[in-house]
Amino acid sequence: MTMSLIDSTVFAGGDFKKYDDARIGLLTHGLNYGTGCFEGVRGYWNAEERELYLLQLREHYERLHASAKILMMDLPHSIDDLVEITVELCARNRFEENIYIRPLMYKSAEDIGVKLAGVPDAFAMIAIPFSKYFDATAGLRTCVSSWRRLDDTMVPARAKITGSYINSAFAKSEAQMNGFDEAIMLSADGHVSEGSAANLFIVKRGVVYTPDASQNVLEGITRRSMMTLAKDELGLSVVERAIDRSELYTADELFLSGSAVGISFINSVDHRVIGDGTMGPVSRELGHVFNELTYGRVAKYKHFLTATYANRKVSA
Ligand code: PMP
Repeated sequence: MTMSLIDSTVFAGGDFKKYDDARIGLLTHGLNYGTGCFEGVRGYWNAEERELYLLQLREHYERLHASAKILMMDLPHSIDDLVEITVELCARNRFEENIYIRPLMYKSAEDIGVKLAGVPDAFAMIAIPFSKYFDATAGLRTCVSSWRRLDDTMVPARAKITGSYINSAFAKSEAQMNGFDEAIMLSADGHVSEGSAANLFIVKRGVVYTPDASQNVLEGITRRSMMTLAKDELGLSVVERAIDRSELYTADELFLSGSAVGISFINSVDHRVIGDGTMGPVSRELGHVFNELTYGRVAKYKHFLTATYANRKVSA
């Protein structure tokens, strides 16, 4: 089943309604100034169990609360409430396929004046069917972007702010228009930061490295899961530290992680082939465990998931 947006039920203004009944005005602050924050959550449909598993909802809502705090917003719902609203939204849409959920908090004033304090805000959520972000069985061809990742002294890097994505959009379009699949951004001081909407990992001599939180990365929820799985399932050491550009070229494996991309291996950076250009064993194993757990097939990681239909409270 693939639904059109018009048939979709959304959550806005404190209630469930049809997509077309949740409109915003032209002068909306968040639209004009990028003063919003959001999440991207994935739901995975397990056809055998006829269950839609929502991945790491609490972690996403903890980050949304942190982003809202940084933007001086009052998120009107607790983490528990947000989890319930999400389950109800998915159940009302009767999804039976993989989905992407977009909770969004935005400054809702319809007025001129760019500032954070004292501006009213609003919360909304939409969920849509969603399959693959990258179709990259051959691996991603990447380049180091001429655009630098925004610095925490300019725009808070650890908040998932709508306006920040103009930075990602510049990098991504430059990469694609130059024939690559994806951009890798350096921080303002020249260390490796992340992809346009995903965190980056290096594997070298059996050790997993990823830029630490001070490298202006968005602290990804999938990034945290990858670190846990690398340690606990593969028995590897994971090191968070500053990474130089040339370390990318000489890595044994490189991969990106994120809610939308899942885990995607990188085939080349700036025309230098990584390893032998095929998916390396660490990327393969992590990808496999991650894929299994998202569909509820790994008992040990069932606590990462919220079941939609088993937890349904209100009938549609
Ligand atoms: N960095 C950026 C800039 C992103 O947009 C995302 C996607 N949310 C990530 C990293 C990965 O974060 P997560 O694993 O929480 O999706």
